[in-house]
Amino acid sequence: MNETEQKIEALRTFLRKCDYRYYILDDPDVPDAEYDAKMNELKVLERENPSLITPDSPTQRVSGTPSREFGTVRHRVPLLSLDNTFSFSELQDFDRRIRAVAHAPEYLAELKIDGLSIALIYENGVLVNAATRGDGMVGEDVTANVRTVRSIPLRLTAPVSRLEVRGEIYMPKSSFVRLNELREEQGEKIFANPRNAAAGSLRQLDASITAKRDLAAFFYEILYAEGRDFPTQKSKIDYLKEVGLPTNPESRFCHSIEEVWAARDAFCAMRHELPYDIDGVVVKLNSSAAQRELGSTSKSPRWAIAYKFPAEEKETKLLDVEINVGRTGIVAPTAVLEPVPLAGTIVSRASLHNFDYIREKDLRIGDTVVLHKAGDVIPEILRSLPEKRNGCERIISVPQSCPACGGPVVRVGEEVAHRCENPDCPSRIRESLRFFASREAMDIDGLGPAVIEQLLEHKLVRSIADLYRLTVLPLVAMERMGEKSAKNLLSAIEASRHRDLSRLITALGIPQIGSRTAKILCRRFRTMDAFLSATAEEFETVEEIGPVMAQSLVKFFASGRNRELIGKLRELGLRMEEPVPADTDTSLSGKTFVLTGTLASMSRQEAGEAVLKRGGKVSGSVSKKTSYVVAGEAPGSKYDKAVELGIPILDEAAFLALLTPPGTEGSAAEPEQPSSAGEDSIPLPPDDLFANL
Ligand code: NAD
Repeated sequence: MNETEQKIEALRTFLRKCDYRYYILDDPDVPDAEYDAKMNELKVLERENPSLITPDSPTQRVSGTPSREFGTVRHRVPLLSLDNTFSFSELQDFDRRIRAVAHAPEYLAELKIDGLSIALIYENGVLVNAATRGDGMVGEDVTANVRTVRSIPLRLTAPVSRLEVRGEIYMPKSSFVRLNELREEQGEKIFANPRNAAAGSLRQLDASITAKRDLAAFFYEILYAEGRDFPTQKSKIDYLKEVGLPTNPESRFCHSIEEVWAARDAFCAMRHELPYDIDGVVVKLNSSAAQRELGSTSKSPRWAIAYKFPAEEKETKLLDVEINVGRTGIVAPTAVLEPVPLAGTIVSRASLHNFDYIREKDLRIGDTVVLHKAGDVIPEILRSLPEKRNGCERIISVPQSCPACGGPVVRVGEEVAHRCENPDCPSRIRESLRFFASREAMDIDGLGPAVIEQLLEHKLVRSIADLYRLTVLPLVAMERMGEKSAKNLLSAIEASRHRDLSRLITALGIPQIGSRTAKILCRRFRTMDAFLSATAEEFETVEEIGPVMAQSLVKFFASGRNRELIGKLRELGLRMEEPVPADTDTSLSGKTFVLTGTLASMSRQEAGEAVLKRGGKVSGSVSKKTSYVVAGEAPGSKYDKAVELGIPILDEAAFLALLTPPGTEGSAAEPEQPSSAGEDSIPLPPDDLFANL
């Protein structure tokens, strides 16, 4: 091998390693800008030495391999990547290539959403399949997961016989920040950017995890539409919108590459204000006929190109490292930085996540560091610059003891985080109080960080329960607390006594249990006593509760300390029940339904919704926990499973009777089983439509 061949091979090996971490593990360890630079270097070397190009080079194929953990889907039309440009002159080159084929080309400049590609198939207007891009030819079957993404319609507004579309699934910036905060709090590894967070959330074997991740989507391409032809890119977008698919509202129509560049300026200016992350602009030739004429390479279409925004990076000084102890005891290091303007704000702090992270990046106090914003929102140190060291830098080590209480700092099991395990640690108590009072928990107006700090300083509060014992007199002795503010604070605390149980469950800060999960749990366990006596198995029967959450709940409610706190809160008059809305039909509460086959009077989606509305649950598989299997025309294997397990089987009439409240028409009495399937059939979604409800 000569020197060039060695260089090419080294670059290919590097890029393949990056691809594996990025596409399979959703956990890149190299910044995108570095990956792009290496890819560019390889492209240049291959251009100069065309005989060295091999079909498996990362420059020649769509990167990514479908994981074997999912079923696979062969794409009817390959899902290609895009060629990248980084400058106006490269865009001009692209324009020249287009003009060789198309006279006076018109372009559509679209936002390049930083998410992951998704291809959907609708049959008769119903979503039947969703697949990732994979290697461009074969993707992963993520249908069950995509069904949990609220902005993706399960049914189009028109019953188009067959429509195949392509778009981008993304995670909004705010959800990305929240998810990483939660993961950090729970000692889990954080996602590098919203794109990896979206991919990691979608590519889950358990669709209930995807359901909790707040993903969204925009669609931008029609791969196939039976009996339809679209003359332009713009007409495709209009049609996508018309049938109810979400499309991005920002795209701009351009009559020249100069107008595209102006659109780029406008997109750049709005970038930091957008609720989702974009990493560039996609320029597409508008005419479909010209697109066909230009065709594609094995990697990307020749009629479209991506302009990538330059990475926004700034150098600054790492002045100090602050150690904070969170409510769950996690010892979190934060970098204190010399303030620097970056991506629209002045940055003076950045989370350092944990001590492994500090070690891997070899960060030292006094270092010059390179800063960027992950997903355009979270300040993050990319690397230190050892060449700028002067010998005065200080190594950052794990504290031997908790900086707040002096207790031991330990590392539990596989966790990346270190924790202070002292439940009386003042820092943990302060953070618990903050969380308890926060808007998403007990929503106590006026009980902000400064007031909590003073309450602790004046030793008026040592635990959450003490909040409910506060009186006016000691409060007014605090700084900036007049009688009026003290009374207001007390009435806000008083009001919180009557919050629903789901808020109290959230406020207790049970690891893994956020406000949404608390609400779901409280639909089943309506009283605190029910929580206190539930087993892990019982928790697991609730939709979206997996074994990890169930264990966390059991551990929390088994702890003597937590039971004591709950006892005190009960004595202090906090509400220990979740109210049942007066007009709620709970006739099917506690019952789990599995739907199979075709119903004559309603779609399975409608049937599922009817069950959910009455407090019941719909599951995708039959188990001993199933209360009824509803069998329509031509039921699937779920029918046989129900017979095998002796689960009551309802035909359509019996099911309808169960849905009808007593005293209206028919009877809601529990029907006999088993019975035959209905007669008439209409085309309906596949068997597992409700697998994830
Ligand atoms: P890409 O992200 O550069 O561009 C193609 C993708 O853009 C399409 O597949 C599509 O999913 C997406 N897209 C978003 N909005 C679009 C729109 N409006 N129209 C059309 N497509 C749109 O290419 P890629 O092949 O998905 O990924 C390669 C990039 O990923 C690299 O350039 C690099 O930045 C990053 N990467 C990083 C690492 C790493 O280790 N850091 C590894 C692999 C890839």
